[in-house]
Amino acid sequence: MKERWKHKTWLIDLDGTMYRGKKQIPGAIELISYLQKEKIPYCFVTNNAMRTKKQNVAHMEALGFHGIKEDEFFTSAMAAARYVARMSDRRNAYYIGEDGLREALLENGFTIVDDHSDFVFVGLSRSKTYMDYSKAFEQLWNGAKLIGTNCDRRLADGDHFLIGNGSIVEMLAYASEQESLKLGKPYAPMLEETLAYLNKQKEDCIILGDNMETDIAFGALHGVETILVESGVHTAADCARYAFAPSACYHDLFACMDDE
Ligand SMILES: [Mg+2]
Repeated sequence: MKERWKHKTWLIDLDGTMYRGKKQIPGAIELISYLQKEKIPYCFVTNNAMRTKKQNVAHMEALGFHGIKEDEFFTSAMAAARYVARMSDRRNAYYIGEDGLREALLENGFTIVDDHSDFVFVGLSRSKTYMDYSKAFEQLWNGAKLIGTNCDRRLADGDHFLIGNGSIVEMLAYASEQESLKLGKPYAPMLEETLAYLNKQKEDCIILGDNMETDIAFGALHGVETILVESGVHTAADCARYAFAPSACYHDLFACMDDE
């Protein structure tokens, strides 16, 4: 690993970088063990708003990772709840999401309500119905503010894709004729909230991920060094299509660790 990276805090993407479906990415367990052994700080920064901190740890352990702690995850649900709590005194929230979003809202002082909400948080749910979405819409129509935790169009699910949270947010935006705040990677509020959570500056960090449009844009557009690993969505050949570039690109995580 490059010497200067040993003095950074690693902001690491999960899906496509640490695991894909039910399998860990080759080198992922070795990289995390290396960071732990060398006492190099890291945090998993993910747009996935569905899991709680406990569920994230359990998921990583089931994949074979060791020694990962609950406070080593920062999700788009946590960023959204913290951001809105700082920007407003209103605390009545309706949400379309799973346990991770619920946990983040409760931890930031929101009251979960069924009616008369100030905000409708949307962080992806695999079980909500047409009537739940209509209820969310009705509150938006009555003045609640739409807060999508992230704008992901698609959600990787093993070898295929499901509809991503951003697509659901767009549906509610279309119906209610309002736009959501842009949160989650690659947008600035996610970086601000991540740095505040970790008590770090941009210069202290390096971002590792597999996706040009979320991870690499997240760093490159906001002045944070980035590493693209070709284990997920994008490869080095894709970089030419973008107006920004990663600071480094590796075929796999072993190569990233070997590079002196
Ligand atoms: Mg990814």
